[in-house]
Amino acid sequence: MTTILEGKTLSSQISSSLKPRIEKLIQNYNRPPHLSAIAYKEDEASVVYLKKEIAACEKIGITADMSYIDSSTGTGRLISIVEELSVSPKTDAVLITRPLPKNIEAMDIWDNINPVKDIDGVSTINLGRMFQCRNFTEIAGNSFFIPCTALAVIRLLQYHNIDVKGKNVSVLGRSPTVGKPTAHLLSSLDATVTLCHSKTQNLAEMLGASDMVVSAIGKPKFITADMVKQGSILIDVGTNWDENGKMCGDIDFENVKSKVSAISPVPGGVGPVTLACLLENIVLSAERMRKV
Ligand code: NAP
Repeated sequence: MTTILEGKTLSSQISSSLKPRIEKLIQNYNRPPHLSAIAYKEDEASVVYLKKEIAACEKIGITADMSYIDSSTGTGRLISIVEELSVSPKTDAVLITRPLPKNIEAMDIWDNINPVKDIDGVSTINLGRMFQCRNFTEIAGNSFFIPCTALAVIRLLQYHNIDVKGKNVSVLGRSPTVGKPTAHLLSSLDATVTLCHSKTQNLAEMLGASDMVVSAIGKPKFITADMVKQGSILIDVGTNWDENGKMCGDIDFENVKSKVSAISPVPGGVGPVTLACLLENIVLSAERMRKV
């Protein structure tokens, strides 16, 4: 019997829990939490994703504005926009889509987001603080922001009562805001983590020996049944489109699901939880800034 690690129920629970907190902020400060988002308009997928996030904000009473950059926006100009938002009393939270245009020095941008408004935890200060922590209790008890996708993976596992302690986990993908922080959080929960990437040799062998696989590589249906261990747990972070234009993950869900003990679907797994974690961080940021 395979458990489907769905994320929609958890996502709704998190969103519902935010409503009274938003009402309290409005009552005490006469305005709701406010997100300022910046989208790279030539990257259609990230614009669509950001619009979805803004719609989710508005549904629970968070206000938002969205501005666009394009490939003619230089690093200096984007830094000024980010600096303005970082000090603006109206903006509680700042979110910038990734990837940025190639001509922009991404690191300079992340580092100019005020860390207390950096709700996706991409700045060096927030990432650095997370990596300094030795265990999850220390991470959870701190007041910095963790990248929402990595946090969503952990929240999804906890919601489904999956303890990673002592498990051999392979994380596929080593991006600074998805793969690496996910590997760190799992390790902070006492999993033994192998971080795999495009140059990893004998990937199938590695996955075949793993109790759990978390995939964040962006390759549709890349992981097939012959690559995974019988009874293992699979978490699919990948958001891709198949040859018919249908959303799918990195894991070939239909092919793999009867072989494993648990698997998260795409859509409906990590994605909705990531969105909810982002909403939660916007509210948290407003609460911290207004010292509720
Ligand atoms: P990214 O920055 O492009 O990183 C992709 C990573 O995958 C890289 O580390 C790359 O290795 C590795 N990789 C690529 N091909 C591989 C292969 N054949 N075998 C092993 N590793 C391979 O992407 P990202 O921003 O981390 O996002 C990854 C995926 O997660 C995307 O599909 C994205 O849409 C999705 N995503 C989902 C959510 C959600 O909430 N569900 C949120 C964010 C992102 P190298 O380092 O060697 O190049």
